[in-house]
Amino acid sequence: MDLIIRNGMIVSHSGRQIGDIAIKDGKVAAIGYLGNMTAKKEIDATGKVIIPGGIDTHTHHENPFQGCEGGDDFYTGSVAAAHGGTTTMMDFSITPQGELPYDFAKTRIEKALKRGIVIDFSFHCCLTEMNNKVLAQVKDTVELGIASFKVYMIYRKENMMMDDGMLLELMKEATKYGALVGVHAENAAIAEYNVAKSIAEGKTDWIDHALTKPNIVEYEAIKRAVTLAESLNTGTYIYHMSTKEGADILMRAREEGKPVYAETCAHYLSLTDEKFEGEEGYLNLLSPPLRKEEDNDRLWEGIRRNAIYATGSDHAPFTRREKELRLERGADGKFIHDFTKVANGGPGIEMKLPTLINGVSQGKITWEDLVFTNSYGAARIFGLYPKKGEIQRGADADIVIVDPDREVTIEGPETLHMHCDHTPYLGLTYKGWPETTILRGNVIVDEGEFVGHMGSGEFQKRKIDPQILKTSLWK
Ligand code: MN
Ligand code: MN
Repeated sequence: MDLIIRNGMIVSHSGRQIGDIAIKDGKVAAIGYLGNMTAKKEIDATGKVIIPGGIDTHTHHENPFQGCEGGDDFYTGSVAAAHGGTTTMMDFSITPQGELPYDFAKTRIEKALKRGIVIDFSFHCCLTEMNNKVLAQVKDTVELGIASFKVYMIYRKENMMMDDGMLLELMKEATKYGALVGVHAENAAIAEYNVAKSIAEGKTDWIDHALTKPNIVEYEAIKRAVTLAESLNTGTYIYHMSTKEGADILMRAREEGKPVYAETCAHYLSLTDEKFEGEEGYLNLLSPPLRKEEDNDRLWEGIRRNAIYATGSDHAPFTRREKELRLERGADGKFIHDFTKVANGGPGIEMKLPTLINGVSQGKITWEDLVFTNSYGAARIFGLYPKKGEIQRGADADIVIVDPDREVTIEGPETLHMHCDHTPYLGLTYKGWPETTILRGNVIVDEGEFVGHMGSGEFQKRKIDPQILKTSLWK
């Protein structure tokens, strides 16, 4: 064998065992008590928890938005992801208006490879307009291995929004080729009305951004997307779900076996709108906005009930300079609080798994629930399974060794490895931390030190299991 990891607690989405894992040629070769087996390298994992490599279903790298691009490129962002126990990232290929989805997606894949991405990767294809030329490339895009689409139900003035007619048209076309269409679920009309009203009343503080997007803005849009998908007997996916009402919709759908899936993000599980207070509240502006503790709690419940299938970071590492780009200073030298002048997005690629581990430490979810939402669910839904998502014979040896007792306090961005000079997780303490990350049998992070090499990431061609689009009763 190439590598044996001994005596750890190996967790799957449905159970756990103490045992050894043997790896050969990048694949899991055996699991169990492998006392007599030998390998070139051994890792003693006594007292450690061993989980499948994480799948971050939502990252943005080298992806201009509202005039910002972020501090990380595909290389630095993927190194940070590896430190956070993520071995596959799903980034976005946001096709600008006037360009075509298949052609644009190819440039995104090439860019990630050229930059030397160190973990495996895939893309969701975003469309921002609908016409016959765009429609004609849906099939090619799916055949390229990009079997999921994201549509923005908001961002009209950014020229990214598609209305319901376009969304339904895309769902029809994508369904023909077995792809999954998901949404950035925000009701544009309500949010736009609220923003205009808020500006007219001079309410432009950081918190007012969140107040223009109350929970109804999200859950109405979720219901609408679900209705559209149901009309075509297909499934849908909710990106970055943030509300308790959204969690309720998903829990009900799960009970009914409907193919309605969602991811939430680390920040919606652990941060609240208090982050918009103070002079630096602008750093934490993102959409959907951070909400209340009761929303956090319900999202944890959604994970506990295995109704939230995936988790992402929505990593958009806009630097301080980028966040401040359009802000003006008042006579006192301080920024004039104007939420309309701040790019929406925040950094967090390394914090997804630590947030989930901390949830286990606090008794909110089990290790099995963690595996379900950290890797297994995403792999199943998006067509990465059985290659990814679970530690089992024949699967890629994407493995994370977690020290469940190690405590880490986020002292500042320097605690983390991303190239972004602020973090919303500042001052928080985590119990349990990923220490070693293995990608296809190669140790890339060794007890907190990056030991991988540039360009070790591979593009993952995906094809979605047709069953996924019919029912969620596949657990
Ligand atoms: Mn979005
Ligand atoms: Mn996003």
